[in-house]
Amino acid sequence: MTEQTGGSLKSLRRTNQERVLRLLLKNGAMHRAEIARQIDVSRATVSTIVNEMLERGVLVPVEVPTAGALDGRIREQVAISRRAGVAAGLDFTLDRVAVHISDLEHHELASHSVRVPADATASERMEAAALLLFGSLQEHGLGQDDLVGLGVGVPGQVSTVSGVVGPSLPGQPWAGINVRSMFAERFGQPTLVDNNTRLEAMAEYLWGAGRQASTMLYVSLTSGIGAALVTGGTLYRGALGGAGEFGHVSVDFDGPACPCGNRGCLVQKAGSPAILQLVRPLLGADVGIGEVIAAAQEGDRACLGVLADVGAAVGHALVNVCNLLDPGRIIVGGPITALGDIVLDPIRAAISRRAMQAVGSTTEVVRAEFEEATQAGARGGAALVLQEAPQLASVLRRLAG
Ligand SMILES: [Zn+2]
Repeated sequence: MTEQTGGSLKSLRRTNQERVLRLLLKNGAMHRAEIARQIDVSRATVSTIVNEMLERGVLVPVEVPTAGALDGRIREQVAISRRAGVAAGLDFTLDRVAVHISDLEHHELASHSVRVPADATASERMEAAALLLFGSLQEHGLGQDDLVGLGVGVPGQVSTVSGVVGPSLPGQPWAGINVRSMFAERFGQPTLVDNNTRLEAMAEYLWGAGRQASTMLYVSLTSGIGAALVTGGTLYRGALGGAGEFGHVSVDFDGPACPCGNRGCLVQKAGSPAILQLVRPLLGADVGIGEVIAAAQEGDRACLGVLADVGAAVGHALVNVCNLLDPGRIIVGGPITALGDIVLDPIRAAISRRAMQAVGSTTEVVRAEFEEATQAGARGGAALVLQEAPQLASVLRRLAG
């Protein structure tokens, strides 16, 4: 009997420990009172759990000046110690790989990227990423065993069921590959693999323009147009992982055929190839999107007109999304958002004019904070580990000790 009671007390303590760790992984440093409130136990119970983990070095005290406190006092928060591990993200685009490492207090430790040849195979890309990751860990006296998890971003749709990347554009090196098992075998740590755009969305949610948004929609405007919905800190992936192909929402059912099988897709009007096709007869056959942005900044009327039309097309497609999902905050990323309101105002105008009134008048449209997409994707890989690792039993077992 005594043994049984001892056993259940032990298991209760362990459960409470895991709940505290789960919260700290998601939020970074927190006050004891906030922990008690969120897991609904007494402050005394939280103090016992926290003190025990402080003694073991799993947690560390973090001193933060309370903003606006008239007495100027320093109040202590607690966070998971760097000694307990770090979270890492990797992101692959066609010609780059980026790494981002965050400690469990949510502080950036390292953020780097390197070029990879456009014709590199998936294995060659993974090895380039391994070199970059291990080198970045070493800079901080850390090794592979210090990773509590790895979040990996690749272009294309990753099946949430099988971990295999679906068929995609020609030259996509990951198509048909089980990226989840490939990376888990190579790195031997809990590994989450997802589409690049979703990782960029997680970076914005945790550290960027989506901070503290209960619901947010991230939209990336590049050669493709992707979107990712985050609700309550969780990514919406769809039944099989196929959600977010915003570029292939039709904005003209009688429009030109798209390789996806649909007609008049948004990407055919607002993707960067469509922009270039419109401006090249005026600016020259070999201009890139950077030159279009520069010309618009200098007041080139043709470029300004094309980009306003792009904003309007994206805005009109977003009206449907707003009516369906009420995303609250829409965060727009991609190179052309460097132009700020030139692109964002037509989006705002379309939503406020056409969406159902309650939604149209309250939805905010803001620019993404992380500009460079590959680095944002890697940052988001680390964010994904911090947000979703709490669901990985092995991470909690390791931290609870
Ligand atoms: Zn399409």
